[in-house]
Amino acid sequence: MTDPDVRRVTVLGAGNMGHGITEVAAMAGYDVTMRDVEADLVADGYEDIEWSLEKLAEKDRLDEPADEILARIDTEVDLETAVADADLVIEAAPERMDLKKEIFADLDEYAPDDALLASNTSSLSITEMASATVRPDQVLGLHFFNPPVKMDLVEVIYGDETSDETAETGYEFVESLGKTPIYVRKDVRGFVVNTVLGPFSAEPAWMVSNGEATVREADAAMVHRRGYPMGPFELADLTGIDVGYHVRKEAGTPIPPIMAEKVEAEELGRKTGKGYYDYEDGDGADYEPGDGEGFDTLRVEARMINEAAYLVGDDVAMPDEIDTGVKLGLGFPEGICRRADKIGLDAVLEKLETLYEETGDDRFAPDDYLVELVESGRTGEDAGAGFHEYDTGGSGPGDYRLLNYELDDDGLLAVELDRPERMNALSGDLLEEIDDLLSAVDVDDVRCVTFEGAGDRAFSAGADIGGFAELSPTDAMDVTPAFETVHDFDRPTIAKIDGFCLGAGLELALACDLRIATERSQFGAPEIGLGLIPGGGGTQRLLRLLGETRAKELVFRGNHIDAERAADWGLANRAVPAEEFDTVVGEFVDDILEGPPVGLKVAKTVMNEGADASLDAALAMESQGFGLLMSTEDVREGTAAFREDREPEFTGK
Ligand code: NAD
Repeated sequence: MTDPDVRRVTVLGAGNMGHGITEVAAMAGYDVTMRDVEADLVADGYEDIEWSLEKLAEKDRLDEPADEILARIDTEVDLETAVADADLVIEAAPERMDLKKEIFADLDEYAPDDALLASNTSSLSITEMASATVRPDQVLGLHFFNPPVKMDLVEVIYGDETSDETAETGYEFVESLGKTPIYVRKDVRGFVVNTVLGPFSAEPAWMVSNGEATVREADAAMVHRRGYPMGPFELADLTGIDVGYHVRKEAGTPIPPIMAEKVEAEELGRKTGKGYYDYEDGDGADYEPGDGEGFDTLRVEARMINEAAYLVGDDVAMPDEIDTGVKLGLGFPEGICRRADKIGLDAVLEKLETLYEETGDDRFAPDDYLVELVESGRTGEDAGAGFHEYDTGGSGPGDYRLLNYELDDDGLLAVELDRPERMNALSGDLLEEIDDLLSAVDVDDVRCVTFEGAGDRAFSAGADIGGFAELSPTDAMDVTPAFETVHDFDRPTIAKIDGFCLGAGLELALACDLRIATERSQFGAPEIGLGLIPGGGGTQRLLRLLGETRAKELVFRGNHIDAERAADWGLANRAVPAEEFDTVVGEFVDDILEGPPVGLKVAKTVMNEGADASLDAALAMESQGFGLLMSTEDVREGTAAFREDREPEFTGK
C-alpha cells in the first residue's frame, strides 16, 4: 500500500542503491522516476531492475506481473524534469559531500516546495546537506541497506532541522514499502547500525595489530562462539578494507595499523583477490570452528554495547530500535542490547573499566549511560531490567523476544516465529520460548495451536548453527524438550508452512500434528551436509511418518523436496496455492475449534502413544480412551446434537 502523502517518487542515481530503491518503490505501487547523469547509466540501472524483477518472478515473489511494475518506472537525465512533480526525492549519488550539497541546492530550486528531500547516504551529515537548501525541515536521511530489494531495514534519520512531520512521512513511506524503519533521532556519524558495527570490525583489528589475537581466531570466535553471521575480517574483505579505512580517516578516528598496512599494500579484500585472507592462491576465509577458543569476545562485544549505551543515553535511538537495526541491517543473531542484558551490564562495565585502566585508551572509556544503568541496579536480565525490562515471575506466558503469540476467545493460540532476518532459524533461545509458552499457557483456554514463520521466506529454515556451536554436548541434549513439548501438547497443533521448512524447522513441523503448506514451500533435512543428523526428533518422526524408504532418502541425501511431493508422501496434509493458503488453514482450524476438546485430546494421545506401542497395547489404549470419553458432557452433547440434527456445542467437559 502506498503512503497517501507520497505519490510520486524520484530517485537520483541509477547505481547499486538507486536502481534498487527505484525497484522497491515501484513494487510497492509508487510511480517512480529514476534519474542519472547520462542516458547509458539510467539504461543500465533500468536493465538491472528488469533482471532483478525477472529473478523475483521466477521465485514467485512478485504480487503482480513484472511488466506492470516496470510500467510505473520512468527514466530521465534532465534533473529539472525528473523532480518537477516529485513528492519525495531520494538521492543515491556517490558518497561525496560537495556533490551531495550541489544536488540538494539544485533540488531545492527545482522540486516542488512541499516535496521532501531525502539522502541515502551511509555516513555523511544530513544536517550539512540540508544547509544547502532553504527547507532544512523537509530534509531527512533514508538509509537503505544493500541490496534494497532484499534488506528489510531502513534508517530514518533526523538532521538538526528535520521536522517531526517530515520524519514521520519518511517512516510511513518506508513502512508502505513493506520494510522496517527505525528512527535515528540525531544526525550522528554512522547513524545507529554502523555505530554499533564500528567496534565489531575495529576492535579485533586492534587486537591483531597488537599481537593479541590472530585473524582466524577472531573470525572463528565471533562466528562459531557468538553466532555472528560473518567474522570481522571476513566481513572487511567482503565490503573492502579501504571502505572502513576511509570512513575512519574521514571521521578522524584512529586506524588500527593492520588496516592501514592492508590499504597501503593494496590488499583490499575480495575485490583485489587478497585482503586478510587470500582468495586467489589460498582458500579464502578458511578459519575452522575450533580456531576461536582463546579469543576475548567480551572485549569486542563490550565495546559494541558501550556504543549502544551512548546511542540510548544521547536519545539517538531506543534499545528496541537498536536491536531491530542490528538484526535486520547486520544479521546479528540477537539485538546487541538484549545480548548485553544477557551477558550482564556489570560484567560489560567491568571489562571496559579494566581495559581503560590498562591502556588509558579512550575507546574503552565507559559511556555515562552504561555506568548509570549499572549504578541503578539495572544490570540486565537476571536483575529484571537492563536496557530492556524483563518479566520476572508470575505464572502464565511472559513476553517473548523471538516469537509472537495471540490467544483468541475461540481458543486459537497462533504462534509466530519472529526471526524473519534469519529465516526464522530456531536458536536455543527461540526453542526455549516455544517450550515456555506451551508449558505456561492455560491449556483449558486453548483448543488449537498454529505455528507459522514471520516474513515471506520461510516457516523456519533450520537451526541457528552459530547459536548452537557454543553448546556443550550436555547442553545440546536440552535442545529437544521444545519439540517434545509441542508433540505432547494436549491440543491439536498445525504447522502453517509457507517457504522453507528445513532442518530443525522441519522437526518443529513434524512435532506438530498437521502440516499445511503453500505450493512454493520446500522441505528438507540438510543436516547430513554438515556431518550431523537431525537432532530434534527428525530421524524418528520421519521414519514413523513416511516409512523407512522415504525417510532415509530425506535424511541421507539431505536434498529439498517440493510441497507437492511432500503432500504426496504424506509429509504435508495439503499443498495449496498461496492464494488459498489462509482459507484452507482456516477450514482445518475451524473444524478443530468446533470439535470436542477432550475428545481431540484423547484422540491425539492414543494416536501418538499408540504409534509406538504394539497393536494390542495400542488397541487397549484406544478402548480405555473410548471408555473415558463416554462419561463426558461433550459426548452427551455430541449425540444429542446428532439426534436433533443441529451443530454440537462442545464445552470441554
Ligand atoms: P554507485 O556508484 O553504484 O551509484 C551512484 C550513481 O549516481 C552513479 O550511477 C552516478 O552516475 C550517479 N550520479 C552521480 N551524480 C549524480 C547526480 N547529480 N544525479 C543523479 N545521479 C548521479 O553508488 P551506490 O553504491 O549506489 O551509492 C549511492 C549512495 O548510497 C551513496 O551515498 C552511498 O554511501 C549510499 N549507500 C551505499 C550502500 C552500498 O552498499 N553500496 C549502502 C547504503 C547506502
